[in-house]
Amino acid sequence: MEITDIRTVELSVSLDRPLGVSRGRETDSRGASIIIVETDEGVRGIGEGVGPEPYITERIVEGKYAPRLIGEDPLDIERLWSEMLAEDLYWDRKGQGVAAASGIDIALWDLAGKHYDTPTYRLLGGDSGGTGSLRAYASDLFWDSPSEMARRAGEYADRGFDAVKTHLGRGIDADRERVAAMDEAIGNVHLMVDMNCGYDRADALRVGRMLEEHDVYWYEEPLSPYDVEGLAELRRTLDVPIATGENEYTKWGFGDLLDASAVDYVMADAMRCGGITEANKIAALCEAAGVRFSPHCFATGVGLAATIAVAASTPAFEWLELDVTDFPLRDAFFAEGLTVEDGRVSLLTDPGLGVSLSDEALEYAVE
Ligand SMILES: [Mg+2]
Repeated sequence: MEITDIRTVELSVSLDRPLGVSRGRETDSRGASIIIVETDEGVRGIGEGVGPEPYITERIVEGKYAPRLIGEDPLDIERLWSEMLAEDLYWDRKGQGVAAASGIDIALWDLAGKHYDTPTYRLLGGDSGGTGSLRAYASDLFWDSPSEMARRAGEYADRGFDAVKTHLGRGIDADRERVAAMDEAIGNVHLMVDMNCGYDRADALRVGRMLEEHDVYWYEEPLSPYDVEGLAELRRTLDVPIATGENEYTKWGFGDLLDASAVDYVMADAMRCGGITEANKIAALCEAAGVRFSPHCFATGVGLAATIAVAASTPAFEWLELDVTDFPLRDAFFAEGLTVEDGRVSLLTDPGLGVSLSDEALEYAVE
């Protein structure tokens, strides 16, 4: 079998309500780069590479990687990964080049599953938890008034989730009010707090002390991803566990985080860190380090399906991030829909990743 073509489809969704995170930042649209790998046998793979500018992903995929991979056997995934990222380490060590290659890698794993007629997670080692489903938390609860955030947190708890994640990071007083309101609304359900790199060391410590009082489950990206020593220091000082990794790349980047003892919950993003191939290796590093793997996922159904495949097959897996916002590109790729019951997501049983580029998804294509 040979790869005959690799192309990207850019999608964009305008949001009715902007999503607010730390330091007043807001997003009013969500874009996605879907990557399609075609073969001479008609088997097709679908992947997703995350990045702030889909047109750059498209240029990298089609201008840089496609010419290298066309004519190659799509089942030699490790070799093709090296062809994209290990042989060319001068530029694409981190950033959107790695994210673009991640999308191709995910498409290759989908294609392999279809070729072997089995779900991709079975090629990665099968269902490591043995339950046919994954524990998920409701993500995300974006910035709003304390009462509105508490109302929505309570709604997610009522839907059966054991944990809810929120975005804070706009000063200790404003954060405290919201944590207290949500904490009260969700009872015994866990609360995770994500700062999206919004604080410096002094404020992160103060806010971390406040989160301890509310027994917050994890403290996500309190600091810049550059400040690995700062994260390690917070981890040593605070009782609340540190989660980070959505802005880190490859097994070498995560190796540095783990060597520095800077993280309790490793949040590798398969659409950024180097694809399914790399996320799987990062999960193995976590297992060896005795650290939990809770992959980051804020993507379309394609990225979610890739994340489910990695999460299913890794023993260090802890929580699946499930996007519960009103985002049409989550469900548009699943033929049978996604089964979520009592806060657990069922593994997908169709061959490959169990997703396809539907007409419903193509309604959001950017011309
Ligand atoms: Mg985050």
